[in-house]
Order: sequence, then structure tokens, then C-alpha cells
Amino acid sequence: MQDLSAALQALADAGLARRRRIVDSPCGTRAVVDGQTLIAFASNDYLGLASHPEVAAAFAEGARQWGAGSGASHLVSGHLRPHQTLEEQLAALVGFPRALTFSTGYLANLGVLPALAGRGASIFADKLNHASLIDAVQLCKANGAQARRYAHNDLAALERLLAAHPTGEKFIVTDAVFSMDGDLAPLAGLMALAERYDAWLMVDDAHGFGVLGTRGAGTLAHCGVSFQPRLILMGTLGKAAGVGGAFVAGSEEAIEFLINRARSYIFTTAAPPAMAVALGRSLQLIASGDALRTRLNNHIRRLRAGLADLPWQLAESPTAIQPLIVGENQRALQLAAALWERGLWVPAIRPPAVPEGSARLRISLSAAHSDADLDHLIAALRELAAA
Ligand code: PMP
Repeated sequence: MQDLSAALQALADAGLARRRRIVDSPCGTRAVVDGQTLIAFASNDYLGLASHPEVAAAFAEGARQWGAGSGASHLVSGHLRPHQTLEEQLAALVGFPRALTFSTGYLANLGVLPALAGRGASIFADKLNHASLIDAVQLCKANGAQARRYAHNDLAALERLLAAHPTGEKFIVTDAVFSMDGDLAPLAGLMALAERYDAWLMVDDAHGFGVLGTRGAGTLAHCGVSFQPRLILMGTLGKAAGVGGAFVAGSEEAIEFLINRARSYIFTTAAPPAMAVALGRSLQLIASGDALRTRLNNHIRRLRAGLADLPWQLAESPTAIQPLIVGENQRALQLAAALWERGLWVPAIRPPAVPEGSARLRISLSAAHSDADLDHLIAALRELAAA
């Protein structure tokens, strides 16, 4: 039995203890915490849809019409009409034959790979993949699959691994937008390798869906990669889409198989139908959301220009995730605390979420921010850098 208080003390000593802040306001660019109002650069609400009045109204209307809960898992009796409609809307938006909703992105990732990659399969995963994909790969290994990690975004390294494993089913697995770095996977190159080596490609587009690509269809669309029978797309619905849950898109066959075999789909209660109704509205706003995406892109440019010559390096990110790499855990915490004192909420991200020695401030931008919000953050960081 581990000594929990000693373990907690060790986390605190290493600057790795986590604590939650209680937020007394809806998700948005302003957060009320302990009576103080902060400008928040901390959520994944990239388009400002989490508190969008039309999305919230659709949620309320959904609850009025469909009640609060779904009552059962999808396969028993919980698959209600709004869930079905949402799946059809999602498939149409991303240009895949079929989509399947999951209760969260974590569950979607835990469900997909272990269902598809059984004994004898080989999995090739980017080193910086999200924890949910890492956990999914662990489950596959427990089922008898082999797994290898390739250097981040390194197509040549991946190709060497693929060439060295000529037999068995192969799966390449990657984030589309890396969640702690904001950079994009080379999806066209990965798709080409998947085809050349007869592998599946699974793409986690948690941070690209809604913000990249025509009509917000995501990073695959942004990279010019369209549906292929062995391409599986996962997207989350609690980030740009502003509500919660996730979806997996694939061929008719792949989705039918997941309905039958993905344990995290089968053995959990379907999300409340009102969520699906709210998401229906949110997807319409995403599809017609070019103005929001332009605003977000302008913010990205403004921030990068404003922070270009700081002593800390801004990661090479073209997306709403703009990490300022600070290095030491304690230094990242001090900077986050100093920003907090100046009315700015920017989370410090430390290992194990990022590699040792690369603690960072993870600045998340939203179309809902104003230019003045950005200027405030830029000025505060410049002041702290000069101190
Ligand atoms: N994949 C990635 C890349 C993520 O960043 C996240 C959320 N942090 C997830 C999956 C999990 O999604 P959810 O929050 O819906 O469980």
C-alpha cells in the first residue's frame, strides 16, 4: 500500500501537485474565481460556442422536448433520435460515410483502437500523442498487439518502422493538432505511408475539428486528405464545438464494427439527448463559422507578433494552442501566478503532460477574445520578461 501523504508531498515538492480552481461564471473569456474576474486563456472553447446563446437555448429546448437523460446505453434503449440526427450531421460535415458519437473523447479513443487492433497487430504511434491514445495503446498491448512509438512527426522514422514490420495488421496513430504544442501532424504524408504499407490511419482531431479546414471540417480537410476506407477520424465535441462528447468517423463497416465491439461505446450510458440537440446547433454555427475562424486566425497572428522577441520561445504553432516554453516547472508556475495577479489566467503545463524540462504556459486563444484581451496578455508577458 503506498503512503498517499508522502506521495502527495513528493508531488508538491516537485512542483507537480495539481489543484482545481472553482469558477463562478460560465465558460468564456472572463472567469470569476475567488471573487476576482480574470481574462481567461485557459479553455479549449476556440470559437466561443460553449456559452453561445443559441447553443444554450438549443440545449434548453432539447431538455424540454427530450428530458434530462437517455436512460440506457445506445445498444439497449438509449439511442434517441437526436443522437442519430447528430451522427448524420457529423458524417456530412467531415465528409465520411458514417459517424458514431461517444460520451467523451477519452472514451472514444479507449474504444476504437482496442476494438480494431487485436493480437498480432502492430501499432505505430507518435511520441507526443495525447494521453487517451497512449492509454488505448496500452489496452491493445494487454490484448496482444505490439506497439512502437516514432519520433514526433518524423515520417522517415515511421517509414523505417513500417518497413521493418511487414506482417500483420498495422495501425498508424496520431494527434492531428498536438494538444500541448499546437503543431499539426503531416497528415498527407501519413496517409501516403498508410497506403504504401497497407496500414490503417487513426487521427485524433480534438483540437482541429471546428477550427481548421473548409466549414471547420478539421485538420484532414485542411491537409487535403479525404475519406479512405481505412482512415478513422476521432473528433471531440467539448472543445471548438462547445458542448461535450466526441465522435468517430469511418467507413460504414468500421462504424458498424465499433458499434458491436468498442467496449467504451457499449458499456456506458448514452449522453443526454439535449446535448445532441445543442450540438446540432453548434455544428451549424461551425459550418457557417468562417468569420469566427478568421477572427481566431487574426488573434493567433497578433499574439505571435507581440511575443516574438521574448526570452521564452513560443512553440512553432499555427493553431489556437500557443505554448510559451519556459523550461522549469517552478518557473512556469511562478509566471502563471504573476499573470494571475495581473488578472490573466494562463495555465502552466508540466510533466507528465509534457516532456521533462519543457514546462510551459499554454495560451489558448478563442474567437471570443477581443484584440484588447490579447494586448493585455502581451503587455503583461513583456513586463514579466523585462523584470
Ligand atoms: N484527444 C486529445 C488530443 C485531447 O486533447 C483530448 C482532451 N484533452 C481528448 C482526446 C479527450 O477528449 P475529451 O475531453 O472529450 O475526453
